[in-house]
Amino acid sequence: MPISYLSNAVINMIRAGEVVERPASVVKELIENSIDANATVVRISLRDGGKSLLVVEDDGDGMDCEDVDKCVDRHATSKFSGGEASSLCTYGFRGEALAAIGAVADLTVQTNQAKSAHGWETVVWFGQKFAPRPCSKVSDSGGTRVAVRSIFRKYPARHRMLRSNGHELSAVIHVVKAAALAAPEVTFIVDTGSATKSFVLRAGKSGDRVQDVLGLDYVKNSASLSLARNGMEISGRVSLPGWSGSKTSQSTVIVNNRPVSVGKSIDNALKQAFNGISKHHRPQVVLNITVPAKEVDVNAHAAKREVRFLFPDAIQSLVTDAINQAVGVVPDTGVISEIA
Ligand code: ADP
Ligand code: MG
Repeated sequence: MPISYLSNAVINMIRAGEVVERPASVVKELIENSIDANATVVRISLRDGGKSLLVVEDDGDGMDCEDVDKCVDRHATSKFSGGEASSLCTYGFRGEALAAIGAVADLTVQTNQAKSAHGWETVVWFGQKFAPRPCSKVSDSGGTRVAVRSIFRKYPARHRMLRSNGHELSAVIHVVKAAALAAPEVTFIVDTGSATKSFVLRAGKSGDRVQDVLGLDYVKNSASLSLARNGMEISGRVSLPGWSGSKTSQSTVIVNNRPVSVGKSIDNALKQAFNGISKHHRPQVVLNITVPAKEVDVNAHAAKREVRFLFPDAIQSLVTDAINQAVGVVPDTGVISEIA
């Protein structure tokens, strides 16, 4: 067979699929954009677990007409002007998220800056972009509202991979909670369409945020941990041995303010730290890890979900030692000497 080039439409679709997997990955990208825009309040509204509609609205800086036109284009970003991606302090830098979302859904971005007389709206309908037009203001002080409808509706193969509304909703809530743990200075309002599942996480001190997100039971059954060495720092909480939490309990790992998946080095560290207690028991942790920007690659994954450490062994032993210190497990023997 002769070699031929993929069309741009196919390339966009493949690329978009790497960033956008499900409503939760969309919510993650939109929350990150809101925080990058200095939002203090982020409101997330969902219907059908985000499958039919998800809206993320913020009181951030907003955009002008020119930027609202560009923001949905591929590789269009206001956050990167050369240099090392790792030294950036924003969540975003690839300029891919809005373009990817617009390729696979019905996307509307409405926005205004504090000084503007009205807002601007731009629509991308499954890859087809429309010119910006005026709209009413999102917020007098500036803000942005991004609405995503009917994700993957035109891509049956991807649409079939979406799970039940309840399942997608839990994944979204997981993402919101991780983001909230990483940004305690931001208020999060979640409207799921059901009074029992909607919630508000008010901005406050980090300690309160852990309790708001994970509950008093977790705080009572966990110990705080803190350790610093060789330019690396770790703080957070670890559940006490024996506490198994609820079915929905989640571990959260935050590296340089970025929630990431529990990668191999951290998972190994958790296993090792709790090995002496129970081979089957995994602690529930909230880990805030800070490493020098040059020692971590946030670019390893299209959705920036995984990070790669330059010294994974050092991270692993930092985590193990911090946990051992916090819950008083004597290494090797696994005997609990003291519970903090
Ligand atoms: P990235 O975040 O990597 O720059 P995105 O596709 O997520 O890429 O966003 C593109 C650009 O759109 C951002 O760089 C930013 O300038 C603008 N933008 C997106 N969301 C918001 C928002 N909520 N508030 C203000 N500007 C935004
Ligand atoms: Mg972004």
